[in-house]
Amino acid sequence: MSTECTEIHKITNSIGRHGFPFDETRIPLNGIYILFQKGEKAHGQDRIVRIGTHTGDHQLRPRLKQHFLSENKDRSIFRKNIGRALLKKQNDPFLQLWELDLTTRKAKDNYSQQIDFDYQQKIESQVSKYIRDNFSFGVFEVASKEERLEIESKLISTVSWCDECKPSSAWLGNSSPKEKVVQSGLWLVNELYKTPCNASDIEHLSRLIDG
Ligand SMILES: [Zn+2]
Repeated sequence: MSTECTEIHKITNSIGRHGFPFDETRIPLNGIYILFQKGEKAHGQDRIVRIGTHTGDHQLRPRLKQHFLSENKDRSIFRKNIGRALLKKQNDPFLQLWELDLTTRKAKDNYSQQIDFDYQQKIESQVSKYIRDNFSFGVFEVASKEERLEIESKLISTVSWCDECKPSSAWLGNSSPKEKVVQSGLWLVNELYKTPCNASDIEHLSRLIDG
């Protein structure tokens, strides 16, 4: 599998890189993002640590803002996972409360007695700082939703099957309470170990990225 994964790393490492703060006018309206993390290397390049996209039309910029800017773990599974690993690493019992989804009014009312919201906000700030200091990303445009989801799934599968993509011993994800994060070396729990890219998918990918 590593031939395809080497190619994917070569292609995605070559596209323009964004960090925080990013200029959203340089980010397409629809597409796929590839996250890289400080200290993580594979195939002699920066190792892909997460691949993501969006379903709704024109939601790529809002999606990236939910990860990097908006301090709400319940709107970003990526933020939730970073928080889980930070809390587990610190042996912080707040992890149990961090798991709760407070999106609905009802949930918020139900748990409001148990949750110290000032403390939760402190963790949100730590997550923001960690993400902004450690992650960069590349993006490429994919207009159709079906195509985005297919490419996302194949890229994730390819990287998850790859023997050469291993996290460093210092990787924060090693502290994740999510077995799939620890095992895969990716900030992901879905689309792992499914159908990977074949040679024609790689060709398609490089055409997409070359524009
Ligand atoms: Zn690989």
